[in-house]
Amino acid sequence: MSAEGNRETLGFQTEVRKLLDLMIHSLYSNKEIFLRELISNASDAADKLRFLALRDPGLYEDDPELRIRVECDREQRTISVSDNGIGMSREEVIAQLGTIAKSGTSEFLAALTGDQARDSHLIGQFGVGFYSAFIVAHRVEVATRRAGAARGEGVRWVSSGESEYTVETMDRPRRGTVVTLHLRDGEDDFLDGGRLRTIIHKYSDHIALPIVMEAEGRDARGEETVNRATALWTRPRKEISESEYQEFYKHVAHDFEDALAHSHNRVEGKVEYVSLLYIPGRAPFDLWDRERRRGLKLYVRRIFIMDDAEQLLPPYLRFVRGIVDSNDLPLNISREILQQDRNIDAIRSGCARKVLELLAGMAEQEPEKYARFWKEFGRVLKEGVIDAPERRDEIARLLRFASTRTEADAQSVSLPEYVARMAEGQGAIYYLTADTPASARGSPHLEALRARNLEVLLLTDPVDEWVVMHLVEFDGKPLRSVVKGDLDLGAGDAGSAASAPTSSQEALIQRLREALHDKVKDVRSSARLTTSAACLVTEEPGLSRHLQRMLEASGQKLPEQKPVLEVNLSHALIGRIEREQDTARVADWAQLLLDQALLGEGAQLPDPAAFVRRLNSLLLNTDSG
Ligand code: ADP
Ligand code: MG
Repeated sequence: MSAEGNRETLGFQTEVRKLLDLMIHSLYSNKEIFLRELISNASDAADKLRFLALRDPGLYEDDPELRIRVECDREQRTISVSDNGIGMSREEVIAQLGTIAKSGTSEFLAALTGDQARDSHLIGQFGVGFYSAFIVAHRVEVATRRAGAARGEGVRWVSSGESEYTVETMDRPRRGTVVTLHLRDGEDDFLDGGRLRTIIHKYSDHIALPIVMEAEGRDARGEETVNRATALWTRPRKEISESEYQEFYKHVAHDFEDALAHSHNRVEGKVEYVSLLYIPGRAPFDLWDRERRRGLKLYVRRIFIMDDAEQLLPPYLRFVRGIVDSNDLPLNISREILQQDRNIDAIRSGCARKVLELLAGMAEQEPEKYARFWKEFGRVLKEGVIDAPERRDEIARLLRFASTRTEADAQSVSLPEYVARMAEGQGAIYYLTADTPASARGSPHLEALRARNLEVLLLTDPVDEWVVMHLVEFDGKPLRSVVKGDLDLGAGDAGSAASAPTSSQEALIQRLREALHDKVKDVRSSARLTTSAACLVTEEPGLSRHLQRMLEASGQKLPEQKPVLEVNLSHALIGRIEREQDTARVADWAQLLLDQALLGEGAQLPDPAAFVRRLNSLLLNTDSG
């Protein structure tokens, strides 16, 4: 049987087709990044081979010096990037170069608009990768052979980046991959060794493997290494420039944009390791996808061991990217061992500390940058309050909230800031949980606090209910929900303080209690309200009504917990009901107050049609029967 052959023409997955099209049109102003992406892949392929060869040195065949080679051919108008890394089998070529496996890709692509500036940012967030070759090439050929496979099992992949590609088996004596780009018209600038060297310096100097090119100059012969070829993280911090840190970030994180901040540490002690940790500038489109890659790259003594080592970071820091390289871990460490290794626990805790320090420094010195971080990743970091009791205070200082003093729903108030401006005699940090910023801001429960100029944190992320439950207090001040229990706002006149009910008001409250006895636990006079007639509160201890609604919406069955209806005795409507003699009419008024209170907190009415009927009948002041 001939080794050549088995030629197949296959269609790209729809998502790939769309991505190719977008990439060619959105990234044309940043063409040179194709080289960075191909070199990044070659470097990953070498890392993978080196790791597998730890167990099976035969994979090196007779070619153990790993390197990347960049060549250009002016006559053929081609550029090629070759590596002697792991290579790909035919199945791998089809899977890796014909499809995108990330879930949510089609939704992501659907969100692109064709607006180039905006889309290029979005594509960056997605990662560009191999397909960026088509920005400069009208035809791309890949020749590859998986390490350890027979020479007859090489594969050639060819595509013009439109809708199809071909794959065929080929004879390939050398393992690894060559990617050859046939340049589009007008891209001849790239056919220049000097230009390519400049691009490599700019983007790929940090690659730990030698990148070689044909030597240039009068007496030059053979190959020369054109990058620094040492692992970036092993170099002293002060010798590494900001742009080197950023280019390395793009390589490890498969990101297109700069990181927001980084922290590079050499840790000595029980376990020795180097960590280089980055906060990305933007949340990836699949941040909430449970399947997505997360975690750090792990190296042992400079040898790549695995991607996405989740165990190196606690889950609430899963947005952090970067590497850990340790001399104290065994080279044969596996994911299973990672889960139990004591050294790994120490590394995880050390990395968490460094990230929190980095964030605290940013919050302090660069609040605008921190605000950007919070917008992208705040919801993830909040989980730390729940998951990491040992660092609760540290994390609490990093939280940001909307409050009755912030504009719209900007989350910008920190707990230390809140505490510093608490009113005299204010014993607690007040908060309100609600479904949306609008329903939080409009809540009747805020009225008395507003009247007294007391600040209230407005919490509208689903996770917030759990955050406040675990936080309990900050700086010795308890967190206090404004929708629970008796709201004792302390001494001091606030214009709205409820004076003791008159006997006729007492009688009214009693009549309301009777009318609603099966729906509410009690009816009482409210100290919370100034302009609304009624609201519902939960007795302490108890789940807030917002939390009850969330749990019920997620399908949980909760024991019935009746609320307390609080009424505003100084409200004209209550005065009106007080004068009502007809018992049936009082019952209608009572139900109307309850329904109003439900609407006011953003809940759904159990019987909206009855509400409308009752309201109309009371408005027209006729019998409701
Ligand atoms: P990413 O690098 O983010 O995974 P790319 O689009 O750059 O995405 O590459 C897609 C996949 O193609 C890689 O994950 C890898 O499996 C495969 N690949 C690309 N280039 C090479 C190469 N030079 N050697 C081996 N595999 C490669
Ligand atoms: Mg890549």
